[in-house]
This record gives sequence, structure tokens and C-alpha cells, in this order.
Amino acid sequence: MTAENQKELSKGKLMVEAIANGTVIDHIAPGQAINILRMFKFLSRNTELTVGFNLRSGALGKKDLIKIADVTFSPSQTEQLAILAPNATVNEIKDYKVVDKYNLRLPHETVGDFACPNSNCVTHIEKGATPRFIIRTDKDGTVMMRCHYCEREFSRDTVLRYNGLESAADK
Ligand SMILES: [Zn+2]
Repeated sequence: MTAENQKELSKGKLMVEAIANGTVIDHIAPGQAINILRMFKFLSRNTELTVGFNLRSGALGKKDLIKIADVTFSPSQTEQLAILAPNATVNEIKDYKVVDKYNLRLPHETVGDFACPNSNCVTHIEKGATPRFIIRTDKDGTVMMRCHYCEREFSRDTVLRYNGLESAADK
């Protein structure tokens, strides 16, 4: 580490560095930032990225946070994001200013984003069958995903794990 970096770290400056243009995703449930990085392949993009894990947060106790420069989310990407981080806050930044801010809501359905964990499911056999899940929240707050084809229901974490993403339950 250079002396310059050391100086910036000691001032806490690196964590709070504002981005000129891009997106800040705040109030991500702890453990989900890593899934977001993987799902959207943020690490392979050559862009400025700041990630905070288990940061202190009044509302949730703890939260993850992602700042990514020069990236905005399309409506379908926003929907994917909402599955990983329901209730997160998305801030779109332009010229250092927040130009749009909205809270994510868990979608009722997701099409084509995740493969079905049931290996006998028709979606693994027929190419034309695009995986599709109906999403609901259980009484205890667990996000559940039911396959449209085989009608089996899985927890979101099971679907994430099957799709090569970690889940909060793995911690
Ligand atoms: Zn299925």
C-alpha cells in the first residue's frame, strides 16, 4: 500500500468516495452483495466499484452496500436485483447528484434468470422451456420460488445455491 492510500484510508475517505456517475445500492441484506457482484459480473467489468459488507445500519442492524460507477440498471435487471435484495434502495447518480432513488420490491415472478433445482424438471430437457418461478414470501419472511413447470417450490437460497450463487444461509 502506498503512503497516499494509507493516508486516504486513515481519513476514511476511500469508503465515502462519491461516484460521478453510476448506481449506489444501499440497504442490501447482509450476505447478498456478493451474490449481486456475481450475478451481474461486476468484478469482470473494468469500472470503479466499492463494496461494503456488514456495515452498521439503523434499520436492519447490518447491511451491505455497493457503489458502481458508470452502470445503471434496466427494468429487467432491477427485477433480478430485487430478488437478491428486496427492500434495498437504489440511487442513480449523475454528476455527483442523486437523480433517481427508489426502493426495490420483490417481484411476483422471474423468467429466464435462474435454472430450476429439480433435475427432472422439463426445463432441463426441452430447450424451448424458459425457467420461470412464481415468487412469494413465507410467513417467517423466507422468500420462496415455485417453478412454473414442475410446480416444486424451493427457498430462494436453494435456487441461488443451485445457480452457483452463495446464499445468506451459507454463512
Ligand atoms: Zn422445475
